[in-house]
Amino acid sequence: MSEHFDLIVIGGGSGGMATARRAASYGKRVVLIERGRLGGTCVNVGCVPKKVMWHAADFAERAAQAHDYGFDTAVPAHDWGRLVGNRETYIQRLNGIYARNLDKDDVEFVAGDARFTGERTVTVGERELSADHVLIATGGKPNWPDIPGAALGTDSDGFFAWQERPERVAIVGSGYIACELAGVLNGLGTKVTLLLRREHVLKDFDAMLGDTLIERMVEAGIDVQMKRSASELVEAQGEIRVEFKDGGESARFDKLIWAIGRLPNTDGLGLEAIGLELAADGTVPVDAWQDTAVAGVHALGDVTGQAELTPVAIAAGRRLSDRLFGGKPESKLDYSNIPTVVFTHPPIGTVGMSEAAARAQYGDDAIKIYTSHYVALYHGVLEHKIPSDMKLVCMGDDEKIVGAHVIGDGADEMTQGFAVAVKMGATKADFDDTVAIHPTSAEEFVTMT
Ligand SMILES: Cc1cc2nc3c(=O)[nH]c(=O)nc-3n(C[C@H](O)[C@H](O)[C@H](O)COP(=O)(O)OP(=O)(O)OC[C@H]3O[C@@H](n4cnc5c(N)ncnc54)[C@H](O)[C@@H]3O)c2cc1C
Repeated sequence: MSEHFDLIVIGGGSGGMATARRAASYGKRVVLIERGRLGGTCVNVGCVPKKVMWHAADFAERAAQAHDYGFDTAVPAHDWGRLVGNRETYIQRLNGIYARNLDKDDVEFVAGDARFTGERTVTVGERELSADHVLIATGGKPNWPDIPGAALGTDSDGFFAWQERPERVAIVGSGYIACELAGVLNGLGTKVTLLLRREHVLKDFDAMLGDTLIERMVEAGIDVQMKRSASELVEAQGEIRVEFKDGGESARFDKLIWAIGRLPNTDGLGLEAIGLELAADGTVPVDAWQDTAVAGVHALGDVTGQAELTPVAIAAGRRLSDRLFGGKPESKLDYSNIPTVVFTHPPIGTVGMSEAAARAQYGDDAIKIYTSHYVALYHGVLEHKIPSDMKLVCMGDDEKIVGAHVIGDGADEMTQGFAVAVKMGATKADFDDTVAIHPTSAEEFVTMT
């Protein structure tokens, strides 16, 4: 006999936690099933540990610049193991907070692997649970290539498990995870080779961001190699060698990281038991309401492949619960103008459309571009100055801002506020009419001519 709930949530990551807690706040009976650590990708092997590592690399960069600010200190030695230990202690604290939050909100937590066995019925261990609604929020996992020796490499999960910093690392991939890990390792002293299949990084973003990032990475000492497709990894005397499709052979590395995209987590979920068909790319198809084709079964977050970011999964989940249980029938997430930051060195902030996407959608004549290339005041006194770049993509006679992009110091913290303006439909005149905050980098956004 199954136990009945209002909502079963499969997956205790960003989206699942948010949906479960919001549903419980409406007095609903909710159970959340998680097979790993609470908090999912973001807390355990994503945003949180990544940002800690970014801070460490940022610290190293500042320490190297300290001399020009009058400090006579050498760049201090870095203890990777201590950093990783402190990071993991912090994450364990977050895991505990997540567990307590479920408890506090009266969400029942079940540890284990969930599997559909029938219509809105799920088994976990010995238990069979049924509900009016079931949410699939099972996230994703790193993709691996199918080539000989691939297992000699690791992925971003493996990177976070390293207890020592390797001296020479190859990173394969051109997305944000590849670029972020390249910056972290390079900043902390590892010799990094970034292997790109084509000639660009961050292909879904405005081209200015990726092109500038490649320049900055090369200047910072990262060996960026283009048109490099690995055909095999070979181990020799504890070193990894990459062989390429075009016949070339790489230098030797201590470690190699595959950062070639992520795949949705649907294996073993038993979706065939409810007749739920996956899209060609393996994601769970949903409509604008996060409803799947099966009545009462919903999905959100990375497993759906929609803007794979933590705040997106959280926002979609809260709105879903508001709609199903909170008396807000129109509640759903608007997926337009989602801002995001890439924690590279320097960081990138972006919201809205790339120049290319805006031109394709509205036509060249409707688009006006404003750019700024500047040296932030912080770099003014440095011998080695790292410039910043910004772009505003404006559309129509009133120059509505449909895209705002920045790469440079402070991008990580300035983008959120500008995202509000873009989301509200601000025009270039609104930006011009806003008094600048001086001296900051953000003021460049309101002083472009
Ligand atoms: C290296 C890295 C860095 C990132 N950095 C950022 C960042 O800076 N900012 C940002 O916004 N996003 C970032 N992300 C993306 C972010 O982590 C994800 O978008 C977010 O975690 C998605 O949430 P989710 O709820 O969809 O899935 P997840 O957080 O992945 O949670 C899914 C959970 O479901 C569980 N699960 C799967 N199958 C089952 C099953 N059958 N039974 C029980 N449990 C199951 C999994 O164990 C997992 O805990 C990063 C990701 C990575 C990998």
